[in-house]
Parts: sequence; C-alpha cells; structure tokens
Amino acid sequence: MRKHILVVYGTRPEAIKLAPLVRALRADGDLRTQVVVTGQHREMLDQVHSFFRITPDVDLDLMSHGATPNAVARAVLSELERVLEAERPDAVVVQGDTTSAFAASLAAFLAGVPVVHLEAGLRTGNLRSPFPEEANRRLTGVVTSLHLAPTATARRNLELESVDPATILVTGNTVVDALQWAVQQPVAFTDERVASLGRDRPLVLVTTHRRESWGEPMQQAVAAIGDVARDHPELDVLLPLHRNSVVRDAVQPALGELPNVILTEPLAYAEFAHLMARCRLVVTDSGGVQEEAPSFGKPVLVLRDTTERPEGVEAGVVRLIGTDRQRVAHEIERLLDDPTAYAEMARAVNPYGDGEAARRSTGAIRFLLGLGPMPEPFVVADLDAPAAEPVTAQGRP
Ligand code: UDP
Repeated sequence: MRKHILVVYGTRPEAIKLAPLVRALRADGDLRTQVVVTGQHREMLDQVHSFFRITPDVDLDLMSHGATPNAVARAVLSELERVLEAERPDAVVVQGDTTSAFAASLAAFLAGVPVVHLEAGLRTGNLRSPFPEEANRRLTGVVTSLHLAPTATARRNLELESVDPATILVTGNTVVDALQWAVQQPVAFTDERVASLGRDRPLVLVTTHRRESWGEPMQQAVAAIGDVARDHPELDVLLPLHRNSVVRDAVQPALGELPNVILTEPLAYAEFAHLMARCRLVVTDSGGVQEEAPSFGKPVLVLRDTTERPEGVEAGVVRLIGTDRQRVAHEIERLLDDPTAYAEMARAVNPYGDGEAARRSTGAIRFLLGLGPMPEPFVVADLDAPAAEPVTAQGRP
C-alpha cells in the first residue's frame, strides 16, 4: 500500500514553494500525493498550477476576498476535518505561516495525522510583526511532527523552542528550486507594456502587500517610490498589484499617473522570475521575493523593520529599510547613483537554498513514514568565496 499524503494550501506563495515538493512527491512511486486547495488566492493559484502542471484533487472553495483571519481559520478547520475523515492520510503537509496553514495543521493534529511543516522555524520574535504570521508559524510548529527548516538559523530557532532535533531537517528553501525551474521555461508576457521592460532602461521592480504595512507605512513607501520615479525619468518602475483592495487603494492614487511607473495585475510566476533576472534592483516587503532575488545577483531593499530571513542581510545582499518616505527614497537612490554601494549588494550568493530542497524534503517525509533514512542537510556554500554566476533566464520570451 502506498503511503498517502495530503498537501494543503491556499495562497500564491504557498503554491510556488510547494510546487517543487508536490512534483517530487508525485514522482515517488511509494507515495500517493493529493493536493487540497483552500481557495484563498483563486486566480493567482490557477496561474501557478498551470505553470507547474499541477492539478489539485480537492478544492475547498472557501474564501472570498477580504475574509478575516478568523473566518479563514474557522472555514479551514471545519471543511478540512471532512476531507481528513474521508481520506485518512498518513501525513499532511503545510507550508509557511498563513492562517490557513496553521488551521490545516491543527485540523490534522486533532485528527491524529502527523503534520509536516515546510519552511519551518522562521521567527522575528515579535508576535505583532509580521501579524498574524509570526503566531501562525509558531502555533504550527507546536503540532508538527517533521520540521523542514530552510536554513540553519531556522533550525536553531526551533531548537531554542525545545523542538526535538531528530524531527528537524535543514532543506534549503524550495523557492530556489521553483525559481531555477521557472527561468528555464519559455515565457510569453500577457501585458505588452511589460514585455520589453529592463532591456534598454534600468528597471526597479517593486512589490508590497503585507497586512502589517497597510495604512500609513504603505502610503509612505509608495510615496517614496513616486519621488524616485519623478526624480529619475530615465528609469522604469514596475509594480504588479496584489489583488487586495487595501493595497490597490494605497498604490493607484499615488503612482497611477506617473509615466515611468507601470502598475499591472499580478504577473505569472515565469514573467515575474524573468523580470527579476532583468531588473536593476528589487524593493519589496515579500518574503518569497527576498529569497529569490539573491539568486539573480539583484540587491533587495526590504520595506520592513524586521525580517524572519536574516541570512540575506548577514550575507550583505538584502537590506532592511523600513517604510519612512525619505529613507526609502534615499536607499533606492543610493543604489542607483553609487556604483560601489550597488556592487557590494549585487553578488549572486543565495543563503536560502541550492535547488535541492524538494529532494531533501521528500527524503525526510519518507523517513517520517518509515520508508528510508533521513537525508543529509543543506549546507550554505562559503558566502565569502567569489560569487557564483547569477542565475540567468534561459527560456527567452
Ligand atoms: N510573484 C509572482 N507574480 C507577481 C509578484 C510576485 O509570481 O506579480 C511571486 C514571487 O516570485 C514570489 C511570490 O510570488 O515567489 C511572493 O508572493 P507574495 O509576495 O504574495 O507573498 P510572500 O512571499 O510575502 O509570502
């Protein structure tokens, strides 16, 4: 009898980070892997699924836009219980720190099903930032049987919380696996304005969406982007808008009229990956983007005061700049105007992964299920050694 695994998720970043693992699990003949989607980011998920050629088995179809974290947790708890009773899996895999991931882990735990947590052990130590993600990932960790920690720092965080070391494997982050695959694929840009960006003029790639940035912090950061765009007509700024209306209401009035700022719908993953390869620098509050851009040797300025991903900051390729208008504008302009400052950050070292995280994670899940030994952990290459060639996009548009 093949062991049965349920992978449960609802948002775009979860889908991207789980895609390499789902593909690896499905390629394993000893396992039967089913994908359950909760339906939080419907359209963005569909894009990711078709790109990675994954067809979900169960769609809980729970969420409409604007659902509160409470409503999300309530819906996942009640609907997933039904699926768990029907399917009786040997393990449930969740990823990261969304409220649906935590609720799914709790539902599995209460049903007596071992929980596997991908991207375990990230911490800021501050329950209010990011909110509610810091609580979600800590709570998930409490009910988890196998912790797939992306880095040694994440492993240490778990050990400090008295997690049994035998239940942790450092895997690297699967987002690097996803990215390496994505840039090999051909890409067709759906929005013509985007297709040639970054070819002849410098491109600044911006994303912002986090709940704790809503309101004043996001308005300040967006105003700073506008200041830079006005002062530098020679560059382009691209900001794919998150679907959330709070984000749209903050961004569109401030940037919508500027000729060198392009606001688009969320881009397909392959498009976004190719633009990361082409841009000059990245300004973001996204976790995933912080982990991806270093593979391309692109400096990342993070619109936050804290990060649960200190490895990039320590390696000098990521910088925390907060959301103060003057500071954000100053930090972007420093990288645009000072070649030395730029060169210091534009090194292709990625402390987050090596593209083998899905293989290690599959091995660790086999270990959990009694099918094999625990794999060797991911070890970061020497960050002081001369930088590797950056990942470049092969699949030309
Ligand atoms: N991304 C994408 N299209 C876009 C913007 C981002 O595919 O227009 C990808 C990006 O490469 C990364 C992920 O979405 O893998 C990040 O998602 P998000 O910023 O929503 O969430 P976070 O990483 O902060 O959890």
